[in-house]
Amino acid sequence: MTTTRPPIQVAVLGATGAVGQTFVRLLDGHPWFQLAEVAASERSADRPYAEVTRWIEGDMPAAVAGLTVRPCDPSAVTAPIVFSALDSTVAGDVEAAFAAAGRLVLSNAKNYRMEPDVPLVIPEVNADHLALLDVQRARRGWTGGIVTNANCAATMAAVALAPLHAAYGARRVFVATMQAVSGAGYPGVPSLDILGNVIPYIGEEEPKIERELQKMLGVVGAAGVTHAPFVVSAHANRVAVENGHTVCLSVEFEREPALEDAARALREWTGAPVVRGLPSAPDEPLHFFEPEDRPQPRRDVMRGRGMTVSVGRLRPDPLFHLKFVAMGHNTIRGAAGGSILNAELLVATGRAGAA
Ligand code: NAP
Repeated sequence: MTTTRPPIQVAVLGATGAVGQTFVRLLDGHPWFQLAEVAASERSADRPYAEVTRWIEGDMPAAVAGLTVRPCDPSAVTAPIVFSALDSTVAGDVEAAFAAAGRLVLSNAKNYRMEPDVPLVIPEVNADHLALLDVQRARRGWTGGIVTNANCAATMAAVALAPLHAAYGARRVFVATMQAVSGAGYPGVPSLDILGNVIPYIGEEEPKIERELQKMLGVVGAAGVTHAPFVVSAHANRVAVENGHTVCLSVEFEREPALEDAARALREWTGAPVVRGLPSAPDEPLHFFEPEDRPQPRRDVMRGRGMTVSVGRLRPDPLFHLKFVAMGHNTIRGAAGGSILNAELLVATGRAGAA
């Protein structure tokens, strides 16, 4: 894409929430996209963004503070590219209405992720799944479309698993997560529930991790995605960490890798070449740590401006073949940053329609 092209106008639906605010921060000064519209519920609509938003981190970008919040309706929001950080209770109907109205919707909600004609994409892992957008438009008669990114914990697991699955074929995957409080949105988990505590339950999280990993690491063809044949067992826990989901994995493979070969596969993986150089693409989509006590959310969550998934503690597993730890920023790589990277890839590959 040439730098002389005028910026593409974009909107954020659910702009007042935790993920919505991350979109607003990441889009501030974006070289291709200009945040022109923000939208949220009827509670917030028709009021200034700064007045209805309890801003969580740093300073609110000045250009957005004075925008009037719009209702989440395609007749009230005109941008051709729409980032959705909507609560899943409303995302289904709203996102479909925008797609039918010719908009390209980049969704963070769970509603469409497992639909057979909807791409569930981490660009470095499965950029080729964006081909499903053509199937979706033909099948649904939409001129726009919906592209989703994954559950935030599934994202970290998928990036760590991708190089090893490609080389050795995962057969059985055990996952245990330690997920940050920001993953529950704002205001999220009450402080008396989480301070000094671990909550061994996050509603619907475990099945999402189990099935989304199979879809993302599956193979796309003309008939859709053939899901990866491995089985996944997930435990999801909420912990008193602000940002950064940590995921411990134990994996059995079709072909048992030597430890050093697996380490090399992780160290050398750079993801799909088509992603390199996009504005939000990190230099390293995966950083492999040799020190035994990494990755850690406090030290590593902002690696690659929050877009790098850090992987470490690779060692033999007495039950399966290998175990290791992955960690990444849940509202950046696991949500808004991942969505923006998806949009950049769609624009760069000519799939963004009228945008
Ligand atoms: P959140 O902080 O609770 O924000 C929810 C947003 O949805 C707010 O902007 C809210 O607007 C809006 N909303 C609620 N009801 C609405 C309605 N009836 N009509 C229009 N807008 C409505 O949640 P979040 O953590 O940002 O999550 C947003 C989405 O991203 C969810 O689907 C979540 O599952 C997904 N996600 C979150 C993370 C994460 O790490 N937090 C990661 C990946 C995916 P008002 O302020 O006006 O109520």
